[in-house]
Amino acid sequence: MKALDALKTRLLEVDDLNRASAVLQWDQATYMPPGGAAARGRQVATLSKLAHEAFTAAETGRLLDAAAKETESLPFDSDDASVVRVTRRSWDLAVRRPSSLVSEFQEHISKSYQAWTVARPANDFASVRPLLEKTLELSRRTADCYPGYDHIGDPLIDFSDYGMKAASVRKLFSELRVRLVPLVQAITSRPAADNSCLRQHAPAETQLAFGLAVIRRFGYDFERGRQDLTHHPFMTTFSLGDIRITTRVREDDLTDALFSTLHESGHALYEQGIDQSYDGTTLGHGTSAGVHESQSRLWENIVGRSRGFWEHFYPKLQDSFPAQLGTVALDTFYRAVNRVERSLVRVDADEVTYNLHVMLRFELELELLEGKLAVKDLARVWRERVEADLGRPVPDDRTGVLQDVHWYSGPIGGAFQGYTLGNILSAQFYATAVKALPGIPQEIAKGEFAPLHSWLKENIYRHGAKFTAPELVNRVTGGDLTIEPYLDYLWRKYQPLYGLREEERQGAGVA
Ligand code: ZN
Repeated sequence: MKALDALKTRLLEVDDLNRASAVLQWDQATYMPPGGAAARGRQVATLSKLAHEAFTAAETGRLLDAAAKETESLPFDSDDASVVRVTRRSWDLAVRRPSSLVSEFQEHISKSYQAWTVARPANDFASVRPLLEKTLELSRRTADCYPGYDHIGDPLIDFSDYGMKAASVRKLFSELRVRLVPLVQAITSRPAADNSCLRQHAPAETQLAFGLAVIRRFGYDFERGRQDLTHHPFMTTFSLGDIRITTRVREDDLTDALFSTLHESGHALYEQGIDQSYDGTTLGHGTSAGVHESQSRLWENIVGRSRGFWEHFYPKLQDSFPAQLGTVALDTFYRAVNRVERSLVRVDADEVTYNLHVMLRFELELELLEGKLAVKDLARVWRERVEADLGRPVPDDRTGVLQDVHWYSGPIGGAFQGYTLGNILSAQFYATAVKALPGIPQEIAKGEFAPLHSWLKENIYRHGAKFTAPELVNRVTGGDLTIEPYLDYLWRKYQPLYGLREEERQGAGVA
């Protein structure tokens, strides 16, 4: 397999450049002083350009053709046939984007991200507006590298959730929306859970130590990872031996850092679970934004906000915060961490209303790309839609259009649908795992996560990007993506929490 070996060597070099760029971006988001911003933007752009040029070179195409011949008799799921297949798909996407556009985008994005970190706390949308206009123009130019699309958002969605289209996501979201809105109405017609026990002063160090202790139990490997502080938490992979997470901590909120830690650890468990031999190839990362998010949401919510999880961990949290929680009952705390409300900020949103936030952003992205909505009107339209959807006024842009990092750190388009796809898939995967191993919930209540973690590694993690998201969902669950397990999960959890009535179950269309 001479061509395949040469192809893998080439992929390793491309991967080295991309991972080096990831180190620079991680540093920019954690430790870099503001003075480093301009040079850092250029450095990341240079590396992106080199990686893009090496990957899209004619020689890569020639090696791909030859490697395809060498592997044509291998089964579909063999590692070698999969490297060729997955590389071909990425190559076909990448080769149509000129490297000048890639580096121009990258350099612009570094500038825009830096501006956002200043504009958001200052509530100053005007200062980032021209940058966002440029981002929209660059996003459109990127999409236009793929003529023949049905919708201008399709190529951008392909980068993160390959195979999904603007039309298919819109259809899925409208089906989900019809069934979520009555559930949100039913829940919010009840008195909101009291979450004052969470709004207490809690030293950052104790919060962080607790979060790290939990994810160690989950199976996060600190020999191959670490946690640092940032503005907008994320996970990043420098190699399959170094998979890092970041968080932020608020001393007036007892669980903000904890749930962000659980969330990012879910992303990290996925990548730490990838077959080590895939490192440096196109198989050595998660397969799509939606599948990635299914793992962060599974560990954060389905596990981390479950009654069983807190039966085990609440006494330990009380030991960490005796003054704050010593006299607070488990049930009070459990209700507090599952409080449903029509909140303004996506990352603070509960499991039930979260998808309404995602749908709003997804629709705005498409309208911006379509040219139906101008950036100059974005802040106003954001406020109007949120008020219509959630019935609450948006007091400022900090809790409006400036709240999410995405449009300031990447293309407009393809950035948000993965969150809701992830929520849907988290429940579908978890239901499949519990069907295979019915003892999982009882194990979680004992603080034992190995059965669930092992099942996820065996069925999902180890494959990396070998299978597309639709292929993986079919292999794992025996069917296509479906919203039923997710709605079922929400109903089973929130019905007792909010004393919902049977007729409200029908209203929400839960089977
Ligand atoms: Zn995430």
